[in-house]
Amino acid sequence: MNELMKQARLGEPLSGLDVIDMHGHLGRINFAIPDDDPVGVVRTLDRLGVQSIACSSMYCMTPSMAAVRAGNDFILGAMRACPGRILGYISLCPDSAAAVQKETERGLELGFMGIKLHNSNGYEYDTPAYAPAYELAHRHHLPVLLHTWGDRPVMQQIGRMARRYPAALFLLAHTGGGDMMANIELIRECSNVYGDLTYSRSPRGLVRRLVDEVGADRIVWGSDMIFFNIAHQLGKVVGADLSSEDRAKILGGNARRILDQRVAG
Ligand SMILES: [Zn+2]
Repeated sequence: MNELMKQARLGEPLSGLDVIDMHGHLGRINFAIPDDDPVGVVRTLDRLGVQSIACSSMYCMTPSMAAVRAGNDFILGAMRACPGRILGYISLCPDSAAAVQKETERGLELGFMGIKLHNSNGYEYDTPAYAPAYELAHRHHLPVLLHTWGDRPVMQQIGRMARRYPAALFLLAHTGGGDMMANIELIRECSNVYGDLTYSRSPRGLVRRLVDEVGADRIVWGSDMIFFNIAHQLGKVVGADLSSEDRAKILGGNARRILDQRVAG
């Protein structure tokens, strides 16, 4: 049994590792979630040994820029309440290119670290009004986290954007869900595309399989907290059949590299 698994089984926080959750959410949704405020979330991170969680608001799925902007303000409050522990993704709704540009620039000035897009708002990822956000992500080398579910037409949209904006980093949320080969093929094709492990129903062996398919350098860990319990999302990587080096890359090393390569200006 690996050292991290021993710690986890004793109920101790993971130690000696930089663990970063690249896929979290904060805010209210239409079902009850206990201990869902930013301070409660950080308490949970401490209990598990997670350094930081990058969050978008629940409004990331809402087709209204006014609601999305209010959600970004909520995330900003959490970033300020828990500096360095809660990081923020800017959510967007492509009402117009001008509105997308304004909200992305506002978020970057306020210290958000990346962009989260969710196609449950009814817009495809290559919608022209998103262009200013991708352009800024390309210029600043930012991560762009996109909700996916192994859907090939969606992968084609993302592939077009990944090739057009090669310095932006595209994180495919829920890699392993749906047709996992659709995600795997895009990660192999585009060096600026990564798989995000956030997925509640990961069958045994999934993490190992993804590492075999695309390599440990191209996978980041995410929990979908506060939708999902972060502990089982962490456990599937801690308990996976991986070398300690690959496990460290997935749990935080790759995320740290992505965050550190951001450029100002
Ligand atoms: Zn999510």
